[in-house]
Amino acid sequence: MLSFDEEIMPKTLSMQDGLVRAKADSSAVSSGRIRVEDKRIINCNADVNQLVPFKYKWAWEKYLAACANHWMPQEVNMTADIALWKSDKLSDDERRLVKRNLGFFTTADSLAANNIVLGSYRHITNPECRQFLLRQAFEEAIHTHAYQYIVESLALDEGEIFNMYHEVPSIRNKDEFLLPFIDVLTNPEFKTGTPETDQALLRSLIVFACIMEGLFFYVGFVQILALGRQNKMTGAAEQYQYILRDESMHLNFGVDLINQIKMENPHLWTASFREEIRGLMQKGVELEYAYAEDTMPRGILGLNATMFKEYLRFIANRRCQQIGVDILYQGATNPFPWMSEMIDLKKEKNFFETRVTEYQTGGSLSWD
Ligand code: FE
Repeated sequence: MLSFDEEIMPKTLSMQDGLVRAKADSSAVSSGRIRVEDKRIINCNADVNQLVPFKYKWAWEKYLAACANHWMPQEVNMTADIALWKSDKLSDDERRLVKRNLGFFTTADSLAANNIVLGSYRHITNPECRQFLLRQAFEEAIHTHAYQYIVESLALDEGEIFNMYHEVPSIRNKDEFLLPFIDVLTNPEFKTGTPETDQALLRSLIVFACIMEGLFFYVGFVQILALGRQNKMTGAAEQYQYILRDESMHLNFGVDLINQIKMENPHLWTASFREEIRGLMQKGVELEYAYAEDTMPRGILGLNATMFKEYLRFIANRRCQQIGVDILYQGATNPFPWMSEMIDLKKEKNFFETRVTEYQTGGSLSWD
């Protein structure tokens, strides 16, 4: 067992080290109080520990809206799902869809959490944005918890589900696409401050918000919500509805963050960088379409893989527009208009009183 000193010293040292670094970071304005004009999203020298005065009110408002949307997985009743899963009323294709869906999401939200905590958080040098990222990190934990809770409720083989991201190619390919963009930010040697590294950060933020949370989650969301609309797996569908609402906020925050960085650093937004982003978006659509085909080799629930091709093209165009990149697929339309109702979720059932109450949702800034 460690002695008191041995146990305490390393922590004390690392804490002091952190404070010294914080001081060094704020050296440019070390003698003065923070002014709004000192604040920047990246490469900011102002003290990151002074939340106010706010510069980016959209970030603070999204933090408040996210907190107002708080929920926990155990608040959702899974009894009907358990009975249905034990019955013979689900087809093999429906079971495959549910299991592969959980196979992707159980680890995807863990990747998302690690990306924030170990990656992007460090490089976003603004306290109101960090406040949102702290909340977002907790929401990613809640989502991982929700998937685990569904796996446990249905008594699925945990090893099978949690290893699908290694063992099922259509899932592994999506994660392998994402990992380099996460790894670049989690590398302890990585620092922003040059056009190349600032572009690397911006590229990772775009991949994370617009392709991972904004595209790779959507086939899975549609599938489970379509089951719910047919009165199947209603508990899981309710969980996914709350997750979708959170993820829409993560996406909106990400879009605002990306656009603000572009505004503050216009030299990063070159024609070749924008073309590179379009290429990544196109690759994302291909990977997500392959996942749609693999999770539903035959049409079920009134859905088929071809509809997803159109849906993904429609969403990819939307993501491109949100960050100011030329769209990829002219004329793509939305084959699932009901999904926008799910995202908006203006009213919802109160968990405990089972009555409809007004519920808060957060919006996004509109960008020219
Ligand atoms: Fe998220």
